[in-house]
Amino acid sequence: MQLSLFDLHCDTACEMLAQHQPLSQNRLAVSLGQAECFSQYIQVMAFWTDRRLDDEAGWQRLLELRENLLADPAVSEGRARICRGCPERGSGVSLLFGLEDARVLNRKQERVAALAEMGIRILTPLWSGETCIGGSHDTRAGLTDFGKAALREAMARGMLADISHASEQSADDIFALAADAGLPVIASHSDAYAVCPVSRNLHLGQIRAVLASGGVVGINLYRRFLTGGDAAAMEDVRRHIEYFLEQGCERALCLGCDMDGAELPAELPSLSALPRLAAYLCGYYPEELVQDIFFENAFRFAQAHL
Ligand SMILES: [Zn+2]
Repeated sequence: MQLSLFDLHCDTACEMLAQHQPLSQNRLAVSLGQAECFSQYIQVMAFWTDRRLDDEAGWQRLLELRENLLADPAVSEGRARICRGCPERGSGVSLLFGLEDARVLNRKQERVAALAEMGIRILTPLWSGETCIGGSHDTRAGLTDFGKAALREAMARGMLADISHASEQSADDIFALAADAGLPVIASHSDAYAVCPVSRNLHLGQIRAVLASGGVVGINLYRRFLTGGDAAAMEDVRRHIEYFLEQGCERALCLGCDMDGAELPAELPSLSALPRLAAYLCGYYPEELVQDIFFENAFRFAQAHL
């Protein structure tokens, strides 16, 4: 089976800097070497900043994360292309930029324009707790006035909003802002609350709202979001996929594996294990649907909206 991958979320850029690892060959979950099993590979690289840094230091770290990735030999030699829009079909390895935890704006709205200039296309505004942006999944708070203004401008500048990590109220606020802007909302790396009730997973109403907006959902391989415990298997990934399919997500379901940001199932320790997941899923679903989940749904979405 010829397999391509369009993954909506990884934290590899952060681990590349933290562990001084190159993109090409490394000890991380994601590398170009591991991506060789895919005909085409498109990866949203999220820039996430450690909470031990305050919001202002986080902004500087964001700049460092991006600079480090741009200076990587695989990028400078063109083996991985940085894209500001949807890559061409059949174009090898492409990277899109995302920002996770937009607290680093630190109430400076002029920084939204800087994000756009940096080529950030996916904006995951929240992560944990309450920030200058608003309430995350572990709170009841919605978006702050600054968060709403920042998101409104980010969408106007071409960034797509992501409800992964948002509180229920913040997610509702994000849906409302996106509806005003006529834009879809995504959930880049979240699973189903009905299958595993943790606050980072999606409620049915949120799944329906993402679908209604024309957005996509990325299945997260973090063991705790799959099962709530320390162990998870491919069967658990399938239980979430099955639930999303039952809700009508066959054209919206993607992968947002959260590699290099999450503890992964023992069967799926890194990027090069994903063909194993595809083969497993082909035992339950038509191959065309598996291809849709791995690549085509995200690709179609990116063609339409990036
Ligand atoms: Zn995350």
